[in-house]
Amino acid sequence: MIKRNTGFSNLTAGYLFPEVARRRREYAAGHPDAKIISLGIGNTTEPLSPHIAKAMSDYALALSTPEGYSGYGDEQGNSALRSKIAEVFYPRMADASEIFISDGAKCDIARIQTLFGSKVKVAVQDPAYPVYVDGSVVAGAAGKNNGNGYEGISYLPCTPENEFFPDLSKIEKNTLIYFCSPNNPTGATATKEQLKKLVDFANENGCIIIYDAAYFAFIRDKNLPKTIYEIPGAKTCAIEVNSFSKPAGFTGVRLGWSVVPNELKFEDGSSVNRDWNRVMTTLFNGASNIAQAGGLAALDEQGLKDMTAQVDYYLENGRLIKNVLEGENFRSAGVVAYFTGNGPYVWAKFPGKASWDIFDKILDECHVVTTPGSGFGPAGESFIRFSSFGHRADIEEACKRLSLLKL
Ligand SMILES: *Cc1c(COP(=O)(O)O)cnc(C)c1O
Repeated sequence: MIKRNTGFSNLTAGYLFPEVARRRREYAAGHPDAKIISLGIGNTTEPLSPHIAKAMSDYALALSTPEGYSGYGDEQGNSALRSKIAEVFYPRMADASEIFISDGAKCDIARIQTLFGSKVKVAVQDPAYPVYVDGSVVAGAAGKNNGNGYEGISYLPCTPENEFFPDLSKIEKNTLIYFCSPNNPTGATATKEQLKKLVDFANENGCIIIYDAAYFAFIRDKNLPKTIYEIPGAKTCAIEVNSFSKPAGFTGVRLGWSVVPNELKFEDGSSVNRDWNRVMTTLFNGASNIAQAGGLAALDEQGLKDMTAQVDYYLENGRLIKNVLEGENFRSAGVVAYFTGNGPYVWAKFPGKASWDIFDKILDECHVVTTPGSGFGPAGESFIRFSSFGHRADIEEACKRLSLLKL
């Protein structure tokens, strides 16, 4: 018999979202009349921009004609799309040779592990989007879970006490640092000063940053950086992963990209970009050409306008949720809601309570599904994440019910 990959046997508990779904199913089965609203998983809900959808539809139909048909494309992505991303999002910061098109940011984060192998040291913000840790465990870069997290992973608490920015002095030399801004789940968005500290630290200590910018489009404060390459020195220490999922509603369409700078080097002086090119050509085989046609349409004048409008809609939902969490019933229980207006999540602390207890209480009394903060890491305990992805009418109804919650 073949031995099981120890990375899988080391993984503890279920992935967070399946457990949330299980509790929701169980509750619904016992309460068939409950009209459950989800403010849980970060899944987009609003229809695609017709402009972007039409570009994909036209492309797909043309595939049925001799002139319009194409098979495999460049594994690194359509060159027009690579150039357009560089021009629109990274002017004077990156060029097309550094942009690689993918089927999404999560998939790239998992593939990135193959660049660094099983010996690399890993640091993550705590709380964090689960794939950074789970992917590292599967890749063998982390050991067993000793109850306070996995061996071999440094957890960097990001809490209201440190304004959600970690203590970098806890990171060892030559560590792979996952950093997400605007953050999932806390919503915290790093300032230029904070990112400069991070970049300087990485350059001085041989670290590489995997910068997850999946929510860059939610940044409305003009002083906040939308990409890590706004920070001088980032090109020698950072890979940025990014996605059309959240700004364009492409969670089902699947399209993302990563930026791997030509200046980024391994210890032996070899090019990270060259190895990433190898990963994309030998392990990946290019993103869907239909999705890439949608990506190109998303980056023209109309597409950019439509993406902004869609993100604005979700940001308004976030404001509604934040307002209700500042109501008397929450305030008198000491609940504090964090919402920056630069990300889709409202992160709320319920002092003295366990996250899963609050999750169950809100499900039971409001029929609203949330996400327990403890599922994102030890420092998320006693927090709840409220997602602003939802139809406005559902958000309003959820807010009405939350305003009656007895804490
Ligand atoms: C949603 C999300 C992603 C996933 O992006 P895909 O491109 O859909 O794979 C990546 N990072 C964070 C932090 C996310 O919340």
